[in-house]
Amino acid sequence: MTAETSNMAECPDCSGKVSKRAPQCPQCGCPLESIAAMRLDGKDGIVTERQLLVQIRESMRATMRLVMCSLFFTSVMLVVVLLIFWDIASWIDK
Ligand SMILES: [Zn+2]
Repeated sequence: MTAETSNMAECPDCSGKVSKRAPQCPQCGCPLESIAAMRLDGKDGIVTERQLLVQIRESMRATMRLVMCSLFFTSVMLVVVLLIFWDIASWIDK
């Protein structure tokens, strides 16, 4: 990789060579700041607000599922324990 290719980026709109430090393409005016930030952040690009919301919603859903599961099992166990105690109590009464 030469110095030119590492400091120059290809404009997505006009395919012209643009400096990575340029805020926008001098040839067509395409904004490059967001594209440069996306490339710096990793293969999937910057995490957009929408993606963040989806991630939060997914984790919320997982947490809710866990809470509902534990609540369900707790209530089931409570009912089972109550039934056993009720059985024992009625058995003792006889
Ligand atoms: Zn351009």
